[in-house]
Amino acid sequence: MHPDPNWLDHDRDRPQPPAITPAVASTPEHAGKAPSDAVVLFDGKDLSAWASIDGSPTKWIVKDGYMECVKGSGYIRTVQNFGDCQLHIEWATPEKVKGEGQGRGNSGVYLQNRYELQVLDSYENKTYFHGQAGSIYKQHAPLVNVSREPGQWQSYDIVFHAPRFDPGGKLLKAATITVLQNGVLVQDHVEILGATGPKGAPKYEPHALKQPLALQDHGNPVKYRNIWIREL
Ligand code: MG
Repeated sequence: MHPDPNWLDHDRDRPQPPAITPAVASTPEHAGKAPSDAVVLFDGKDLSAWASIDGSPTKWIVKDGYMECVKGSGYIRTVQNFGDCQLHIEWATPEKVKGEGQGRGNSGVYLQNRYELQVLDSYENKTYFHGQAGSIYKQHAPLVNVSREPGQWQSYDIVFHAPRFDPGGKLLKAATITVLQNGVLVQDHVEILGATGPKGAPKYEPHALKQPLALQDHGNPVKYRNIWIREL
């Protein structure tokens, strides 16, 4: 009768976890596949799950199985909203290196349209320590720099728990995030300190539990592929 007093130790009547089909890993040439219970946000074919922030159609382009940021077209966001989630996303910065520091292959995965996991070409490209790829931008540097060379596909596997606010808008529980970049742990269940802004300290503003996922247009032609999410 332990550890849960409601079930016998080896109780076969206890409900089983759901059986699902696992994800198929990507190769450098081919995008993988989502597990069977995920919401597929981009499978290489169309942007039907995405819009500009104001809801109008995005000018980001789709070709050869990936989507690419078009300079000046603005951030994009998902049509659907999400709270606690597991997210898989693959990205590649331009093969032809242009610019330096924050100007080189900059984009970003904005959890809940607010909290930025930085996307940057951080292969032999120095910037401030919590501004590189794998950073929670200007909050937490990655544990290691596991960046691949420019032009190569990289992956983020993310576990995110949304913040909770009381009805008056007071923060009850900060958001937390765990990130593996290219299969390596770079953020270990860190607390997010607030929304990402260009200047000043991060700050929480109350919001509904579920929000869109957004990707940043920082003026660089960064590519994305194989994006899927599982609500937790
Ligand atoms: Mg960015």
